[in-house]
Formats: sequence, structure tokens, C-alpha cells
Amino acid sequence: MAGSFQVLLCYTLLKERKWAMKKIKEREPSTELKVLRLLNPIMKLSDYQHYLNLEKGYIGELKLDEWLDGLLNNCLVVNDLLLEHKGKIFQIDSLVIFQSIIYVFDSKYHEDDFYLDANKWKTLAGKEITNPQPQMERADSLLSQLLQQRLNVNIPIESFLVFTHPEFYLYNDPPTLPAIFPNQFHRFMKKMNSMTSKLNRSHESLAEQLVALHLNESPHTRLPEYDYEQLKKGVVCGECASFMIERGRVWVCAGCGCKEYAQIAIIRSVEEFKLLFPDRKITSATIREWCAVKGDRKKIIRTLNNYFKRIGQGPASYYID
Ligand SMILES: [Zn+2]
Repeated sequence: MAGSFQVLLCYTLLKERKWAMKKIKEREPSTELKVLRLLNPIMKLSDYQHYLNLEKGYIGELKLDEWLDGLLNNCLVVNDLLLEHKGKIFQIDSLVIFQSIIYVFDSKYHEDDFYLDANKWKTLAGKEITNPQPQMERADSLLSQLLQQRLNVNIPIESFLVFTHPEFYLYNDPPTLPAIFPNQFHRFMKKMNSMTSKLNRSHESLAEQLVALHLNESPHTRLPEYDYEQLKKGVVCGECASFMIERGRVWVCAGCGCKEYAQIAIIRSVEEFKLLFPDRKITSATIREWCAVKGDRKKIIRTLNNYFKRIGQGPASYYID
């Protein structure tokens, strides 16, 4: 009896939880940000401010995710889409598919007090920033066209600028500005959670089609020039980006003191090398130099043999996944 009750309870829970909020695509840093994160500790970046802007933008997007984690209603969340329609490329930070509406959220992580001077966004000190609204409207328009013309979907879209920095303030925001400010997060979430929303296979198919259309490489990516010979060599801490010091079987971070097993630290460093130099061969000599490993090459060879496939024999051999 108790058993069948449990089965019934599980079934009911499963049935109720069948949809709820489901993430169809997770967010991850762009290749540009990943590369700049790796380069920052080992060379002087020509445009450090650009790197900082990307980091700040990414923090804002993670804040947006944190907020959207509060979704309890039936919906599908698709993050971080780079799409193309009629030769025009546009980006979407987060898109939430409900039964009869799609919300598109564009994260903005500005930290300051702003005011609107005609259509210009200015800080109180008079510094002007790019008005974020036209870019959002462009993405909104291209997405509606893509949905209607290519995917044959007629669910209406509503786009919002989401100001994710807790210390953002806009003095004279017009009520027509499609924006959600930190003090409106709670109310907007309540609204999303109380809408009637029943999803079916067509909604899921829409999310899957959008993910399939996602472009991996942004044409706007601008990486600095870098040269292997000029980069500072060594294993860099994954937590704080300081250099690590080899201490037998472990590497210890000179900055935060965290420890990592030698093999794990080296493999992580090999993965970083692959991202920075996708065309270079992974040889034991290169990795020994890249990680600035002291002593003989045997420990590097042992580690590489354990995690990669060796091609060839002797000094000319190299490793692949
Ligand atoms: Zn560290």
C-alpha cells in the first residue's frame, strides 16, 4: 500500500514538474573573453579596458541568470544566442518562451546614476554612454522576422533592457522605456510566475531550432595579436590568475594559496594552450616549456600519456584528444 502510494506521489510530482522552468541552453563566456582571460596574466593587453568591459558584461549576464532562476512557471529559457537573419547578426542574452509570449532580456550592467538628455544617456558627471535601446530594438525586430519568416512561429515577442547592477539609477526614465530596474525584479518575476502557461512540443521545437541556428563565432570578436615566444610561461591559477609554484605532486598558487594536483594543473594548462594556439602541435617539449616545469620531461610525458593519445614515437611524437 505504502509502495503504491509512493509510486502515485512520484508520478504526480513528475507530472507536475514535467515542464516548469527548463533551461535549453546554458550560458558560457564567449571565446573572446576566454582568450583574454588567459592572456591577461601572461602579456600586457593592448586594450585592457575592452577586456574589463567584457568581464563586466558577463557578470551582468550571470546576474540576469540568477534572477531568472526564480522562474517557477512553465517556460523554456534559452541563453546566449548569436543569430543571423538576412545577413544581419544579433545577440540575445536570454529568451524565455511561455505559452503565448516570448520575453527577450538584454542585460545591462551599468553602475552609476544616469539621466536622459533627449535620447542621450549621461552620467551626472556628463559622461555619455551608448543608448542601449536602439540595439535592443534591432534585435527584437530581427528576431520577430526570423520567427515569422523562417520558423513560421507567430508568438509575440516583448523585449526589455534589464539593469542588473544594484547600484544603477536612472533619474528621469520615461514610462515607455522597455526596461526592468533592480527594484522591479521581484514584481516582474511575480507577473511571469502567475501567467497562464502550458507548453507543448511546438514550444520545445522552437527552442531547439533557435539553439540549432546559434552561431559559435562572432564576427565582432577582436582578439589582440599574441606571439607564443613573448608570453610569460608557467601554470596560472584557475581561481585568481596568479602564477602557481610546482611543489612535487601539487602546484600551489602564489596568490591565493590554493593547491592543485600536478597532473590536473598541467592538463588544465594544456587545454588553455589549445585554446590560444589551436594550430600548434602538443608535444612534451612544448608543454614542458609552456608550463615552465622544472626537471626532466618524464613527468610531462607521463601526464600527457594518461590524458591524450600519442601519435608517433620519440621526440617527434605529439598528442591529440
Ligand atoms: Zn590563486
